[in-house]
Formats: sequence, C-alpha cells, structure tokens
Amino acid sequence: MNKEKMPVETKRHSIAHLLAAAVKEIWPEAQLSIGPAIDNGFYYDIDFGDVKISDANFKEIEKKMAHLAKQNLKFERREEKIDLALQAAQDAGEIYKAELLTDLKAGGETVVSHYTVGKFTDLCRGPHVNNTNQIKPGSFKLHKLAGAYWRGDEKNKMLTRIYGLAFDTKEELDDHLKMLIEAEKRDHRKLGKELDLFCFSELVGAGLPLYTPKGMVIIEELKKHIEAVCRNYGFEKVMTPHLAKIDLYELSGHAKKFSEELFHVSSSKGHDFVMKPVQCPHHTQIYASRPRSYRDLPIRYMESEKQYRAEKTGEVGGLSRVYAITIEDGHTFCRIDQVKEEIKNLVNIIKDFYSALGLWGRHWVSLSVRDYAHPEKYIGETADWDLCEKMLAEISDELKLDAKRQEGEAALYGPKLDFMFRDSLGKEIQIPTVQIDFATPKKFNLTYADKDGTAKNPVMVHRAILGSYERFLALLIEHFAGAFPLWLSPVQVKIVSVAEAHSPACTRLAAELKAADIRVEVDEANETVGNKIRKAVAEKVPYMLVIGDKEANSPTLAVRDRGAADTREITKDKFIAEVLNKIKNHL
Ligand SMILES: [Zn+2]
Ligand SMILES: [Zn+2]
Repeated sequence: MNKEKMPVETKRHSIAHLLAAAVKEIWPEAQLSIGPAIDNGFYYDIDFGDVKISDANFKEIEKKMAHLAKQNLKFERREEKIDLALQAAQDAGEIYKAELLTDLKAGGETVVSHYTVGKFTDLCRGPHVNNTNQIKPGSFKLHKLAGAYWRGDEKNKMLTRIYGLAFDTKEELDDHLKMLIEAEKRDHRKLGKELDLFCFSELVGAGLPLYTPKGMVIIEELKKHIEAVCRNYGFEKVMTPHLAKIDLYELSGHAKKFSEELFHVSSSKGHDFVMKPVQCPHHTQIYASRPRSYRDLPIRYMESEKQYRAEKTGEVGGLSRVYAITIEDGHTFCRIDQVKEEIKNLVNIIKDFYSALGLWGRHWVSLSVRDYAHPEKYIGETADWDLCEKMLAEISDELKLDAKRQEGEAALYGPKLDFMFRDSLGKEIQIPTVQIDFATPKKFNLTYADKDGTAKNPVMVHRAILGSYERFLALLIEHFAGAFPLWLSPVQVKIVSVAEAHSPACTRLAAELKAADIRVEVDEANETVGNKIRKAVAEKVPYMLVIGDKEANSPTLAVRDRGAADTREITKDKFIAEVLNKIKNHL
C-alpha cells in the first residue's frame, strides 16, 4: 500500500466498520454479515430480525458513527486460530460470521484476523485506516436502504443493506450529493414519462418498453443518421427474423455463452426455436448464400433489429435493462489484408456519429486483449490472436486513439477496441466497439475464392456504433436532460396562440412549417398564454412562436429560443431557413 496517500477504498471500508459498530450499539441483537467498500462509498448487509429499519433511523446511526470517528480510535488487528474464532461466533449466535468462517476453514485457512475499533470487533481481512482520526468529519453519509439476499442467493434470507457514501473530504461528498440531485432530475425513467417518450404496461410485461410517437421520432432520427453514416462507408441494410433454430447458435457458440439468457419458443405444430440473442450468426448465412470472390470483399451488412435476452427478473427497470433490445448491429466480411483499413473506417464512423452528438472528445479507448493466464476462456488460434492484437495496437497509434491496453477484456473470439464515453454528469458508458473475429467464419465454413482460385476464410469484423437504442435513448435523455438537439427533438417548433381569434393563423403557419419538413405542434388551448408558454418551456421545445395580433398580420415572427428569456424578431422565410440548416447539420 502507498504510505503517502491512503486509498479512499480503505477509508470507505473502515467507515463500514463504524456503521456496524453503531448498529450493534443501538440494536445489539442485529446480526452482521459483510461490509465492503464500493464505488463512492460502502455498504453493510445486516439481519435486523423483527426490527424494521427505515431511513428515519439514519440520523441516529450517523450520529453514533461520527461520535466514534471523533474519538481517535485505533483499528487493532488480532490473529486467532480459525477453530477458536468459529466457536466464538457460534457462541455469540453470529450465524453469518460463523458461516463465513466455516467456508474459510473448508478453504484451508487456519488463522483469521479480527479488527477492533473501540468496543467493536469484526472478522475482517483488512486493510483499514490506522486510526479513526484519518476519517475527515462530514466526509461520509448514509445513503439508502435496499434488500439483499445473503450471498446473493434468492433461496437465502433477505438482509437489510445499508448503503453509505464516503470520500476523502467533506467537499468531495458535497459535490457528489449535488451530482446525485442533478442525476435524479435527469433520470431517464422520470423524464421519459414527463416528455412522453416511452411507457411500460403491466399487461405487456416489465422489461418490455413501448415507444410513444414522440419517443419513436428520436429512435427513427437516430436510425436514419447512423444508417446514412454507415452507408457512406459501404454498409448495406439486411433484415433477419427474430427466431432461429438453436442449431445456429450451437454452431456459433452463443447457445453455450447465453444458455441462461435464451428465450425458447415452441408451438403446437412442433416448432422449437429460440429468440435471437445476437444477430451475427444470421449475417453469416447471408454471406454463405452465394459464392464469393476476393473481388467482392469487403461485404458489409447492417441491421437495426430486436434481440432478446432473459435477464434476471429483478434486474429490469427503465430502459437500461430490457428483455427486447433493439440493437444497431453490423458486420464486415473482408480479406486479412483489408482488416486494418476496415477498422480505420469503423473508427471513422464512430467519430462521425458521435461528433454529431457533441460526444466525440468525451471519450477514451480501451484496447481489450486476452487474459494471457487463461487462454481456455477464448476460441480461435493463438497466431490469429497475436496478429489481431498487434494490428489494433498499430491502428491505435496511427489514428492517435491513445488506447489503453486492458488484459482480460477481449471478446470470446477476438480482441477489440472499446470506446468509453462520459455523459454530462461524468458517468462512464461503454458503447461503440470494433471486434476482429477469425473464428466465426471458420466455424460456419465461410469462404471466398482467392486470386489463385483457392478457397479462403474471410475475417469477420463486428461493430456496434450506438449499441442498443434503449440504452442509447436513456443516455441521451440523461445527457441532454431532455433538451435534445434540434434534429432529435420530437417537437422542433411549438406554436402558441395568444387568443382564440389567432387559431387560424397558427394553423396556417403550422401547415407551412410541416410542408418544409419541420416537426411542429400547436397549442391553441383555451387558457392563458402565460400558462401555455410555461408548458412549452417544460417540454424543452427548441423554438416557440407566440402568435398574437401583431404576428398574425405580419411576415415577421417572434421567436423564443429554448433557454432564452426574451423573443427575437425574424421573418418567416429566414426562420424556416435557419431551422432547416441546423437540422441538416445535426445541431
Ligand atoms: Zn474490515
Ligand atoms: Zn456480431
């Protein structure tokens, strides 16, 4: 451990001990299990028996924790023979600790360590702070409660998990709390509902989002844009069914990889299908449908379609985790001498697409290579792997991607470049990926006739640009806080009538804008214009046009831009030209 600076994880975990100590002081009957450090803090899983805990109890617990921290208590380590420790845990009725010790013993441990802070002792491997005076006052806070099965197993008892936040300083904690408030405002589940973008139905089922007309506008715009960018680089659209025989995935290896996540579909007529968990094997069959020559390559297929994964039922919620995933997928089949150029193309597609969203530059790249200690985790030949990894490293240099080499992050069949983006709150999201695959074409016996007439296997390059539309929509909602760029906005211009008499003028103007391919909505409700303006502001519409006597009888419009307090005057023709120009440039 670095002696100069204590890792914040050590502090976080030490504070978990203080939480346990405080809980034991208040509820001596509570049974402790485990309390690790996590991102931004720590948690402790506790069995409170019949006592009901709510966040109303946090203040009391926090007060005790702060009191303990203030007393300059040492964390003292004591080693003990495991049999004695086990006996002591059993005598004290600490069933979870006894179970942990029993497992450690079965694993061959003979001695375990305990740490004592003040009057409280806990079984733990460490490390901890030396003294509680290393924990700054106000640098931690209890955060939320959740249920957690003991050892993550649904068959076990549900324990109470108390989450805490902890940082090196109070200032860092305060910043994090501010960020959490902002994140809550931007939560895609909340904004998705307010902005009427998608919904869920109990009758349809959890994890199966339904897109409203407004949500669909965003999805269609994204799809048009990604397809236009990919078409520039030679991709062509294909379409494949949502079902396939399991044989397809047995051959590809996905049946084994996704065995727990496959949806099986059968019929009374004897059909036995699975819902496709990926598109790749389908695309190999389009390639295989005709003889291919070296001159035909590269061949590039793209498809935005659903794929299906049976996630654990407890894990679905919002758009981040769904059963039916609309994936923007694509594959290139090329010769080995074309791979490098092709990967450069794909990186340029990623650059073009993400630049249009203002996200390019907010990213870093991972060169995800094998776990060299565990070659059995991968398929394919070592020579191919070596070559691919070398090629990706060269591309990273040539394109100045500055990719960080990450061992053990490769895909099953090959190394990859992964692009990690940061959203406006600093949350890191991995979306685009480019993967080289020598194995799949061999498994499916895909070939092309080379110059000399011999049959060779092409190389398959998998790429995802925006990934899943669901996850991407969630990212965009949160990144833009619902204030989408003009080209993605479901309603681009909102027309608000001042009084009933102005309705015909509003309708005429709306028709003109629609004819120019601008998405427009009219609010001619019988309520005050102030109310209507407030509603349009809440909907985060990029442009608002208020039509009263003056505007109804003149070629000049009063435009209120999103975020502006005042209106500006502009002629109708200039306004239409401005809007169309921005849409064209993805602003
Ligand atoms: Zn500990
Ligand atoms: Zn693929």
